[in-house]
Amino acid sequence: MIKATGYAAQHSYSRLKSFEFERAEAGTHEIEIAVLFCGVCHSDIHQVKNEWSNTVYPCMPGHEVVGRVTKVGGHVSRHKVGDMVGVGCMIESCRHCEPCTAGDQNYCEGPNSWLATYNGPMVPKAMAPDGGNMYARDNTFGGYSDVLVVNEDFALKIPAALKPEVAAPILCAGVTTYSPMKHWGVKKGDKVGIIGFGGLGDMAVKLARAMGADVVVFTRTKDKLDEAGRLGIEVVLESDAAAMKALKSSFDFMLSTIPEKHDINPFVALLKRDRTICVVGALEPLAPINNMGMALHRKSVAGSLIGNLADTQEVLDFCAEHGIGPDIQVIAIHDINDAYKKVEHGDVRFRFVIDMASLKAEA
Ligand code: NDP
Repeated sequence: MIKATGYAAQHSYSRLKSFEFERAEAGTHEIEIAVLFCGVCHSDIHQVKNEWSNTVYPCMPGHEVVGRVTKVGGHVSRHKVGDMVGVGCMIESCRHCEPCTAGDQNYCEGPNSWLATYNGPMVPKAMAPDGGNMYARDNTFGGYSDVLVVNEDFALKIPAALKPEVAAPILCAGVTTYSPMKHWGVKKGDKVGIIGFGGLGDMAVKLARAMGADVVVFTRTKDKLDEAGRLGIEVVLESDAAAMKALKSSFDFMLSTIPEKHDINPFVALLKRDRTICVVGALEPLAPINNMGMALHRKSVAGSLIGNLADTQEVLDFCAEHGIGPDIQVIAIHDINDAYKKVEHGDVRFRFVIDMASLKAEA
């Protein structure tokens, strides 16, 4: 076993604190990674606070992980010691179901679905149809730690052109926004609306622009009007009824990144006929949707979950090629509880990234 250390929450109401644990040594198809940086996703906060009612404690979040390979198992062929690699939300899937064989591990239909980088299988034993756990792991500890051990297939290659701390959020915020834009065919000249200018929103705006789209970002925060303006992004205050009305029936695609229950009807009205609004933010019931607005112009509301491994590698390479990445604020691990409060208050531009060297400094 490897002695490891990280930050974990013991209960839904407790702060994250230093936590010592052990990880199994790398098996023949696995690699050991010394974690350098880990992004702070709003999902980490939902999970720590048990807002999805499925948290297993201790909860050690972190699914935007970048680090250097320090050991490889005997049959590893994709990575070697010294490589810079990334790990996103998944560390294994069943590999046999239809989505897995099609390369969509993120939609795994195996009895336990995919194995999340933290908080164990997406479908835990108690909810699995066969009452089993094919991964033999109830809880997994994520990237708020010094070391990670994963199957080589679930580690992505970090392009040399990306700084490791900048690459980290691309592993979740990047692919979560890239994947639906790719799926719904966002292309040059399309008009794309991004709703919520936070960690996912920042990546979505940059990716859509790099795809050649004409981007409008929707925010509830007045401060962000100037900020978006400085970045040269067209921005609309969601509460500005006149601005919203002026954009009626003009969008080819919209993506909502709002992290809680919200009303998407005002945004459905902004879609052109036959177009889609995809909700990636709120993973919970939305405010009722008026089907009149949908039916009259054959519009669709959709959801999307992170992205598969191929799309994750693709978005990393796409960002490197286009010279884009998230705006980040690097923090020390002991500032994590404060950072969570700031994310909840929208006081981050736009992603906190933990410098994991701070864990050693603390020891
Ligand atoms: P952030 O907190 O960084 O950004 C969310 C933004 O949404 C805020 O900056 C704010 O933007 C806006 N917002 C926040 N609260 C409200 C509200 N009550 N009403 C309207 N707007 C609001 O979060 P992330 O970008 O990290 O994550 C967003 C959501 O996406 C989370 O719920 C997360 O769990 C989910 N997620 C989903 C994934 C998936 O696979 N589907 C994967 C990863 C994350 P502004 O100030 O501009 O209004």
